[in-house]
Amino acid sequence: MSRQDATGSPFREAVIDLDALTGNVRTLAARMAPAEIIAVVKADAYGHGAVAAARAALAGGATRLGVADLDEAHELRDAGIDAPVLAWLHGPDADFARAVRAGIELGISSRAQLERAAEAAVELARGGGAVAPACVHLKIDTGLSRNGVPEAEWADVVAVAAGLERDGLVEVVGIFSHFANTSREVDSAQLEAFERALADARAAGLSPRIRHIASTEQALRDPASRYDAVRIGIGMYGLTPFGDGTTSTELGLTPVMTLRARVAAVRRVESGAGASYSHIWHAEQASTLALVPLGYADGVPRQASGNGAEALLAGRRRPVAGRIAMDQFILDVGDDEVSIGDEVVLFGDPATGAPTADEWGAAAGTIGYEIVTRIGPRVPRRYVGGAGASQAASTTEVRP
Ligand SMILES: *Cc1c(COP(=O)(O)O)cnc(C)c1O
Repeated sequence: MSRQDATGSPFREAVIDLDALTGNVRTLAARMAPAEIIAVVKADAYGHGAVAAARAALAGGATRLGVADLDEAHELRDAGIDAPVLAWLHGPDADFARAVRAGIELGISSRAQLERAAEAAVELARGGGAVAPACVHLKIDTGLSRNGVPEAEWADVVAVAAGLERDGLVEVVGIFSHFANTSREVDSAQLEAFERALADARAAGLSPRIRHIASTEQALRDPASRYDAVRIGIGMYGLTPFGDGTTSTELGLTPVMTLRARVAAVRRVESGAGASYSHIWHAEQASTLALVPLGYADGVPRQASGNGAEALLAGRRRPVAGRIAMDQFILDVGDDEVSIGDEVVLFGDPATGAPTADEWGAAAGTIGYEIVTRIGPRVPRRYVGGAGASQAASTTEVRP
């Protein structure tokens, strides 16, 4: 339950527009065809709600889902989503047998993980189930130096995988990698390493159907990076992957999350008055200040204080005045009329005049990804749209 005032509008909320998400996926799917879309819904769909986002993405033409870990994959399965799901980040004790039983595809970053996947298939067969292979995507490290099999170990891993495939214990559904988003030169070197890895896999007797390396940024920029599928995260949430100032609007994408609240207090201050902690801001002239009940506990970055962050209030973008605190911050509205209860939009669709999460990211010295992903549990999510994704109701409110 969110706290609502007499007009029924919540004190604070994140509105998730599932139709916008479906539309973004549709736009991207058309641009990427014939490559499939793997909709990346890790980290609770970047703060948007994994299950609702997954359904909306599938409605827009995504054919597969991607998450980081197995808990995230099981959440989708437990909600009844039966599309292919790939999880690629595993601890040493991750329960592969449970994952294989749930039909989750495993991203494999080492020979040890590959052997554990095969053991999971053996264990399930021993448990009386039909002998079904563990479906895996082998990950090659092409230069990100995070996970993925190092190139020096790749020949061994594909040889072992081919043997396990012949034994019916694993099925190599895919081979994948991930870009470092560094420069075109590094991207091409990574693509070349990926090509070598694919050639080695073929030579070992593997024929993966789904080769994938691109996330939103390369998928949009370089058709040669698309292969059989692209892993789209940020683009489907309507934010830009680019650090060069290219906006989501220029990419034809609509931000899915709107963060809003209602003015909690209004006061008039004299010229020279300080506001919020440490008085890093002083009124240059008499001015009206509006208090917004969202703070860094809710994911509004304190680093954005004094760095040009703005929010939409009373028809205009207003600058943040002073420090963003844990629960609240102040907007300077000058001589304009504002009242307690007026709607404030921190970020949303720029077509409405609101700033974007990408702009908040810039003000905080970070990226839009981090802004939406960190919206905290005190902010209720309200879903709108999503009829195409067979939502039970057109408006559902959940607390994450
Ligand atoms: C998060 C992630 C993605 C999605 O990246 P975007 O830039 O959000 O499109 C794709 N692949 C992997 C391996 C990821 O971790």
